Amino acid sequence: MIKIGVSSCVVGSKVRYDGGHKRSSFVATTVSDIFQMVPFCPEVGMGMSVPRPTIHIRDFTNGDNGDLRLVDSKDGSIDHTPKMAVYFSKIESQIQELDGYIVAAKSPSCGMERIKVFNKQGDMMHRKGQGLFVSHLKRAFPNLPIEEDGRLNDQGLKDSFFARVTAHHRFRKMVLEEPSVNSLVQFHSQFKFLVLAHKPDIYRLMGRVVANAKSQGLESSIKEYFTLMMSALSKASTRKTHTNVLMHLQGFLKKSLTKDEKQELCEQIELYRTGLVPLLAPLTLLRHHLKRHPNQYLENQAYMHPYPLELGIMS
Ligand code: SF4
Repeated sequence: MIKIGVSSCVVGSKVRYDGGHKRSSFVATTVSDIFQMVPFCPEVGMGMSVPRPTIHIRDFTNGDNGDLRLVDSKDGSIDHTPKMAVYFSKIESQIQELDGYIVAAKSPSCGMERIKVFNKQGDMMHRKGQGLFVSHLKRAFPNLPIEEDGRLNDQGLKDSFFARVTAHHRFRKMVLEEPSVNSLVQFHSQFKFLVLAHKPDIYRLMGRVVANAKSQGLESSIKEYFTLMMSALSKASTRKTHTNVLMHLQGFLKKSLTKDEKQELCEQIELYRTGLVPLLAPLTLLRHHLKRHPNQYLENQAYMHPYPLELGIMS
């Protein structure tokens, strides 16, 4: 089962500074039914109590070279930064098994972006920071998909996050656990259309990495490929890129479908292109035809099943 890390308060644990939680019903029910959620509360994990005094991020150089520290909000005299580093090193091996992470927004520990940063004197400087735990997470696992609980209400972001989680899992299992040029070639073939729907130009670069894997060295090629793929999938797909992919896919079925079936599929793709139906409409029709006219290459395409349908996505 795919494992996703999550800020404990997002799945309902009462671990916040005020003794409350920040439960997201989508994460605590729908997502938790499909994936194995692994909750962490970094502040409690590094020894803080519940409830506890508030903390925030301070830049002790007032913007000069960014000596960012996690300190108590009252007067900044208690520095929690080293304790967070120790806590992170303790749980690092557990994070290695994860394929995604859902964090709580606005927290000086878990927040992914727009976190308030204060100066040495305790006055707010800007809101462009990130939580200290997330900084550790990004540094140690740059390819791990991370998303904030609230942003998962956005259809496109939800779509992208779960596609990345599934791709991350498949890459770990297919390539990282059994590294070979062949496993890389196979993965690349199966993710062709999913990546094309997000970033066609990065797909071409990925193809070059695969083609040169033997001569350039397998280990460094796998590393480069993983970074390129996760970066491609983090870019939003568009109706235009999806339409191109759908037209490619229908080409594989042209010899199997009747004239009327081809016409109907073309109409669904056109309705999707013009925004009148969601992506699920032409995709469902394609899947229906695939059941009747099996095609192993298409069935293996991650694009046809990018993530579990129960998540209710596919914009
Ligand atoms: S945001 Fe993070 S540190 Fe704060 S209560 Fe939730 S899990 Fe704990």
